[in-house]
Amino acid sequence: MSGTSDTQDVEAWLDERSDAAVEELKAFCRIPSVSTDPAYKGGIRQAAAFVADRLTRAGFPSVEIVETGGHPAVVAEWCDVPGAPTILVYGHYDVQPPDPLDKWTTPPFEPDIRDGRLYARGISDDKGPVMIPILVAEAFSRTRGALPLNIKMIVEGEEESGSPHLVPTVARLKDRLAADLVVSADGAMWRADLPSVTVASRGLLALDVTLTGAGKDLHSGRHGGSAPNPVRALARMLASLHDETGRVTVPGFADTATPPDPAILDAIRASGFDPAGYFRSIGAPVPDPLPSAEDLLTRQWLVPTLEFNGIFGGYSGPGTKTVIPASAGVKITCRLVAGQEPEAVRAAIERHLEAVTPTGYTLTVKGHGPGSAAFALDPDDPALAITEDVLEGILGARPLRVAMGATIPIGAVFQEHLGAPMVFFSFSTADEDYHAPNEFFRLENFRKGLKAWARLLDRLASDLRTGA
Ligand SMILES: [Zn+2]
Repeated sequence: MSGTSDTQDVEAWLDERSDAAVEELKAFCRIPSVSTDPAYKGGIRQAAAFVADRLTRAGFPSVEIVETGGHPAVVAEWCDVPGAPTILVYGHYDVQPPDPLDKWTTPPFEPDIRDGRLYARGISDDKGPVMIPILVAEAFSRTRGALPLNIKMIVEGEEESGSPHLVPTVARLKDRLAADLVVSADGAMWRADLPSVTVASRGLLALDVTLTGAGKDLHSGRHGGSAPNPVRALARMLASLHDETGRVTVPGFADTATPPDPAILDAIRASGFDPAGYFRSIGAPVPDPLPSAEDLLTRQWLVPTLEFNGIFGGYSGPGTKTVIPASAGVKITCRLVAGQEPEAVRAAIERHLEAVTPTGYTLTVKGHGPGSAAFALDPDDPALAITEDVLEGILGARPLRVAMGATIPIGAVFQEHLGAPMVFFSFSTADEDYHAPNEFFRLENFRKGLKAWARLLDRLASDLRTGA
């Protein structure tokens, strides 16, 4: 594919208005739409209204702020191109909390441009990226009088607090949201110096495990040696969950996992990832022998994990307390890969823990919600090749297919409820401090994103098969 495009008119229109578009981004970022903190409820409503108004002004004939039971979602449809494919664009208007405030060079909700970067909370995740498809739809309509294909949008307000109402909302609106392809305007590119597309992300499962011995805390002088000690028993039990290299040893844990797209392994080899630099970057001693780049990235992206997030029991305050605790517990989260069912993994862990619970103790395992399955895009999906062509034309190199260790539940949600594949098409980059102070968005990538979305819509219109 060459870098030339059939959308020069649309791109020129966008180019002429890019300064005005940056001013709109700033206005969007002045709204403090923090989803996790009830103190920002007003900001949430205001941001939803901002998105709805912008969609309406862009020309979307149907725009609605949909109540979800939590923060509202904005749903829009512009479907007047008969016979053309339909895409559903996903994004979110909520943002992370701005704390710690004293680490910001300029205040988080007072956008500031420095060195070609726009600094504000939420600009990279996801206010900048989600504005791009709205502006591009508007540009098509103003330059050509029509969109090249049918566009629906869902912009939610709970992404930064775990999207608790997204699944029921998508399930309820599944006819209205039906599409041939979902394009996510959320989800960052891996590195600024390396074009990439994300084709897989790990799922998530969270558990609370409690082990109880006696009915109450006991004096270690009077009862030590005779009473059950749940801290001691739990430590032994947890040690049985991994081997000495850190691999999970729970029977049935990963039996149904499916092998990854081989292109991801190629990307890992081509990435130039620096293992020693990695350990230094997290402030950990560099191990000897040093694991290979391939080993580390495979573990971050493609291998399921079982991590202990917190362990507790007995006294941990200053000084000493001669106590035998009545109970001990651990918080566990697992990152899952494609093919693993969260419920089956939970059951496998519970079975294993039950099997290794010593007599004289009571075990409880509680799940936090149903968990999220991993997401993996079919390597042969035609939408993926189209995405790669467009990115190659804009960025000058074929993007690498990369995976993500973290969890983006939406891919699996749309696959399950709409039966539609999803591609990521975001122009933010993972180094833009989007969960930290001084979040920024490269304005050069904003302009590239506008061009890229124009070309993407054009290519999808001509090359994507429609299921209708
Ligand atoms: Zn996001």
